[in-house]
Amino acid sequence: MADPTSFLRVPREERRRTPAERLRDWREAHVALPERGLRQQATRCMGCGIPFCHEMCPLGNLIPEWNELVAEGAWRRAIERLHATNNFPEFTGTLCPAPCEDGCVLAINSEPVTIKQIELQIIDRAWQERWITPCPPVARTGRAVAVVGSGPAGLAAAQQLTRVGHEVVVLERADRIGGLLRYGIPEFKLEKRRLDRRLFQMRREGTIFRAGIEVGVDYTVDRLRSRFDAVVLASGAPVPRDLPVAGRDLRGIHLAVEYLTWANRVQQGDVAVSPITAEGLDVVIIGGGDTGTDCFGTALRQRHSRWCTSTSALGRRIDAARRCPGRPTRPSTGPPPRTRKAAFAGSPWPPSPSSVTLNTGCAPFRLWADFVTKPGRFIRASRPSSSCPHSSR
Ligand SMILES: Cc1cc2nc3c(=O)[nH]c(=O)nc-3n(C[C@H](O)[C@H](O)[C@H](O)COP(=O)(O)OP(=O)(O)OC[C@H]3O[C@@H](n4cnc5c(N)ncnc54)[C@H](O)[C@@H]3O)c2cc1C
Ligand code: SF4
Repeated sequence: MADPTSFLRVPREERRRTPAERLRDWREAHVALPERGLRQQATRCMGCGIPFCHEMCPLGNLIPEWNELVAEGAWRRAIERLHATNNFPEFTGTLCPAPCEDGCVLAINSEPVTIKQIELQIIDRAWQERWITPCPPVARTGRAVAVVGSGPAGLAAAQQLTRVGHEVVVLERADRIGGLLRYGIPEFKLEKRRLDRRLFQMRREGTIFRAGIEVGVDYTVDRLRSRFDAVVLASGAPVPRDLPVAGRDLRGIHLAVEYLTWANRVQQGDVAVSPITAEGLDVVIIGGGDTGTDCFGTALRQRHSRWCTSTSALGRRIDAARRCPGRPTRPSTGPPPRTRKAAFAGSPWPPSPSSVTLNTGCAPFRLWADFVTKPGRFIRASRPSSSCPHSSR
């Protein structure tokens, strides 16, 4: 340990751009700490004999090791330890909900080590210093592997397989590589330059990417079998969960990923204005998970939405009547309600005819029926993946 009593003296510090700043653009929220400050944060790590942070990390990241290396200023060794378990620390450093910090022993009676921020700054520094270069295989095995799907799972598999010498072809149904990193998760959570930079590295290592090919349709399974020695299926969970209830077909109800995909296409420069926009509308989002909150942030940035309210699966209101810049808001009717029932008693309800609903598919049916019996405009969100939205790890 660089400083065994640091955790007693140094308070936790991390920086974010203010919400007001963030609403003005689509950039990420993170702000880097100066090197001295970050190293001090790393010294807060107690180097626990049984590091619960490590156990809580779905990747088994060697957290106390790289904390210590950062505290010592050994950045290059820190990125090596980070890459030992994690192909893409820039994705997890921006997107992961950091269960490691929940597990951190310091969190028992204090604030946890800023593990996620340290991770992100290690990888950002490594890119800045040009330490991350392509690692092509030293020898070829002569075997070919197809990877179906180019989300984080497919990309990590493809990188590992390429590096050990196989010929790897990634087949992707969408027109761009990246899966939900590309078209689901908004720019303000993951700037796509991070993804493009990795793809450039992977191409230089020898991974072949083929976008716009749907396996099973454009590329038959028989052809896959005859062309490749092995196939990795990493197709994610692309089927949204629908709610077959009365009124589902009302105008303006959309799936979240459809809504977010268009918002991402605007950021990529494909279209100037999203065909599904919250502009000028009141917005109701049902579902307070990652997908719901991403819809929330997107609607707020589509500046002309007038107010935006969101409920979680349990009916808790996660943020009521957030006013969008320059627009009038409706009054909030008191503190967030505790029960499902109160959620609606306490909200400005029912929504006005111009309301838009984003629904993550986990809302109770009764609630849904309340919505759809009102004439209005609704957007409905899908539940993104099979169970946990954090299954990418
Ligand atoms: C809005 C949203 C926000 C999220 N936010 C977070 C977050 O903050 N933190 C977090 O950890 N996780 C988050 N997640 C979850 C995370 O994005 C997923 O868990 C992760 O992307 C799953 O990775 P994957 O590679 O398994 O699948 P995906 O990313 O879904 O990629 C699968 C790919 O396979 C392609 N494909 C499917 N079928 C075929 C076929 N037949 N032929 C060719 N290609 C095919 C698809 O087009 C897709 O590109 C979020 C998800 C969503 C929807
Ligand atoms: S649990 Fe917290 S204090 Fe202990 S090793 Fe992990 S990051 Fe450091």
